[in-house]
Amino acid sequence: MSRKINIAIDGYSSCGKSTLAKQMARELNYIYVDTGAMYRAVTLFAVDSGIIEDGVPDVPKLKSRLKDIEITFVNNSKNKPEVHLNGENVESRIRQMSISNNVSAVAAIKEVRKLLVAQQQKMGEKKGVVMDGRDIGTVVFPDAELKIFMTASHEVRTERRYQELMDKGDQVTKVEVSENLKKRDHIDTTRKEDPLRQADDAVVLDNSKLSKEKQLALALEWASNRINE
Ligand code: C5P
Repeated sequence: MSRKINIAIDGYSSCGKSTLAKQMARELNYIYVDTGAMYRAVTLFAVDSGIIEDGVPDVPKLKSRLKDIEITFVNNSKNKPEVHLNGENVESRIRQMSISNNVSAVAAIKEVRKLLVAQQQKMGEKKGVVMDGRDIGTVVFPDAELKIFMTASHEVRTERRYQELMDKGDQVTKVEVSENLKKRDHIDTTRKEDPLRQADDAVVLDNSKLSKEKQLALALEWASNRINE
C-alpha cells in the first residue's frame, strides 16, 4: 500500500481552494478539512451571541466563551462533510455575507487561532488529510509533504464568489463581493497572528486561466510524486 501524506492548500479568498481540495480528497480517498468553515462557525457563534458590534469583536468576551463552542464535521446523505456548531448544522448560514464580513476580524484573534489550529493538527495526526485555509502550510502542517499556494486574479475571484452566492439566492452586488474579498485579503495578509503567506516550499498554482480538470490533473500529479517519493 502507498504511504499517506498531508496536503496543505493555502491562498487568497475565493481562489477555488475548496473545490480543488474536495476533488483531491475524493480522488485520493483522503479526508477533506475546510478550516475556513471553522473560523466561520466561531464567527457565527459570536454574531448570534451579540459579541460582535459593527464588525468589531469584543475580544475578552469571545475569549471567555470559547469553551462553549464545539465545532464538528458531519457527513450529509451525499457523504459530504458539513460543519456543525454545538450540534446544529450551520453549513449554509456560515456562507452568508454577514459572516464573510466579520470572519477575518475573528480569525485575527490569537486565542481563536490557537484553539482551531490545535484541533486541525489533531485531524492530521494520522495523515491522509487535504486541508485548505490560510496558514496550513506555514503553521498547521509545516511538515506537510505537499503544499499548494493558490492564486487567481481579483476579477476572476470576484466573479466566482458572486456566481456562487447568486446560485444560493443571496442578494448581493458584485461590488459588495469585490470589496469583501479585498478587505479579507488585506486583514488575512497583514494580521499579526499567522498571516497568509506562501510557504517557502509551496508550489504555486495560478488558476485564473486553468480549467478545473487541468488544475486537478496537475495537483494530482504533484501528490502522486510526493506519495511515491
Ligand atoms: O476559506 P474561507 O474563505 O471560507 O475562510 C474565511 C476566513 O477565515 C478567511 O478570510 C480568513 O480570515 C479565515 N481563515 C484563516 N485561517 C484559515 C482559514 C480561514 O484565518 N486557515
